[in-house]
Amino acid sequence: MNDKLKEILLQVERPARYVGGEFNLPDMNKKCDERVCMCFSDKYEIGMSNIGIRILYHILNNMEGIVCERCFAPDLDLAKLLKENNMPLFSIETKRDLKEFDLIGFSIQFELQFSNIAYMFDLANIPYFAKDRDESYPLMVAGGPCSVNPMPFAPFFDAILVGDGEENLTKLAKLHKELKSQHLTKLEFLKIASEQIDGIYVPAFNNRTKRAICKNLDETFFPTKILVPNCAIVHDRATIELFRGCANGCRFCQACFFYRPIRERKVDTLVKYACELMDNTGYEELSLSSLSTSDYSGLKELVDRVRKEADDRKVKLAVPSLRLDSFEAEIYEELNGASLTFAPEAGTQRLRNVINKNISEEDIDKAIIGAMKNNVKNVKLYFMIGLPTETKEDLDGIANIAKKVVWLHKQYGTSKIINVTVSTSVFIPKPLTPFQWERQIDLEEMQEKQKYLQEILRIKNVKYNWHGAESSVLEGVFARADEKIAPVIVEAYKQGCVFDSWTEHFDFAKWQQAFDKFGIDMNYYRAEIEEERPLPWDIIDNGVTTKYLLKERHLAYEAKTTPNCLHKCNGCGASKLGGCFQK
Ligand code: SF4
Ligand code: SF4
Repeated sequence: MNDKLKEILLQVERPARYVGGEFNLPDMNKKCDERVCMCFSDKYEIGMSNIGIRILYHILNNMEGIVCERCFAPDLDLAKLLKENNMPLFSIETKRDLKEFDLIGFSIQFELQFSNIAYMFDLANIPYFAKDRDESYPLMVAGGPCSVNPMPFAPFFDAILVGDGEENLTKLAKLHKELKSQHLTKLEFLKIASEQIDGIYVPAFNNRTKRAICKNLDETFFPTKILVPNCAIVHDRATIELFRGCANGCRFCQACFFYRPIRERKVDTLVKYACELMDNTGYEELSLSSLSTSDYSGLKELVDRVRKEADDRKVKLAVPSLRLDSFEAEIYEELNGASLTFAPEAGTQRLRNVINKNISEEDIDKAIIGAMKNNVKNVKLYFMIGLPTETKEDLDGIANIAKKVVWLHKQYGTSKIINVTVSTSVFIPKPLTPFQWERQIDLEEMQEKQKYLQEILRIKNVKYNWHGAESSVLEGVFARADEKIAPVIVEAYKQGCVFDSWTEHFDFAKWQQAFDKFGIDMNYYRAEIEEERPLPWDIIDNGVTTKYLLKERHLAYEAKTTPNCLHKCNGCGASKLGGCFQK
């Protein structure tokens, strides 16, 4: 690190975010023909908590001839000092200027990170749009959950990687290294890459691409000698990923449909990973992660075996993402004394049927009673407002569930007190879900519903939190937007929009000004879409068919549910990508 940078880092808050040198750092001096920088468009403590980033960072560093470094969005204090000193954004490991890398891969996790892409490009002195960059710039690609509909940010990148990064990012980096000696142009290279590798969308070609997937997750590399940060991060613990995809098919849930087919790791594999992670990191907490952990076929055996190993090492085991309907008494015991987090999503059975959240009143009662008998003191309930067909009765149902928790605590509770927290987010119609054609409710409707809930949730021991209506509007716009939005993102950044997912930074008025400048009506992207209209994300072959999504949409209007596909395939189409456990 040069003296100037040292001097700057001594002036910023939490310099540990930028200095590197974490425990288990891979060998940065190994012989390398391809230098990759993984960029994450949020702060260090968010990015380092992301399991996908950890996996890809270590997988690339385990590949021959490839070194992978990291760069997270710097906080505003560092950004200001970099600008004032005319210094470019740099990688954590070797403090290299991002322009010196061969390949830059951005991971974009959710829509409110879009302005940070422009922020990081600007700090790195890299032109925003791919068309404005010549061959001297690195090959710039993006992936992550937002690649479901990459169109709003696609013009910034040379290529978008759709699907599992273990498949497409690794193959792309390897091919880039191998073809280096041929001195191909970026587009010549991407032509070859997009023909050979699944899940590579090249905006310049506007090619349709099949989502890349790891067909056999159990045999896919999983890092167990991971970086241990020097400062606190959001999820500061070791994590093992049980499976990908979800069989439940909640009709609003993008992750469910985007990550299908469902692929599990074996219990033996996971126990081995858990032991290695605990031994290699010294973490005091281990968590089991996946979209719906309680659906893992070997959960009881896994929890028993991992618990024993964790106890031997004095490590705490955390089991998040539990669903009500498969919640078993044995698991309660593991959670004795902890908070309980439920996501019924809707207040009435009718609306839960509409969204295919297959949880009954009895399931809810059973789960709450079980929790109360096990000394649970804090119950967190998550709901969505603005779901298709929602009525006032559905909002009243949210308060009824909260009241029921308090009442059941009086009947069965072994803890002295009960704290119930009700949180609501606003429904956002997401691409590649059965609700992708729905409208998003207006800002005023959101605020009215939130106000109504504030009134009816004035209940002793119940607290109500709600997600900002204005940021939900912006998420709703971005989720289904097209490439016309890219210049708006740059304009909003220039007007000061950055770190939009942080409430203290979010400024809706500036976003409105940016949209106005380009004459784009936000509501266009939030309105109902006719089923026949071509969609911006049609360039992705996601496996799950449009016919299936439409069938599910129409069943929703009849409040008819579709069972999960753990035991019987519902024919969603994802199995054609390979790897689905139901053939
Ligand atoms: S249980 Fe429902 S909301 Fe949760 S991941 Fe599965 S489909 Fe999505
Ligand atoms: S193909 Fe069948 S089993 Fe596989 S995810 Fe789709 S519905 Fe489920």
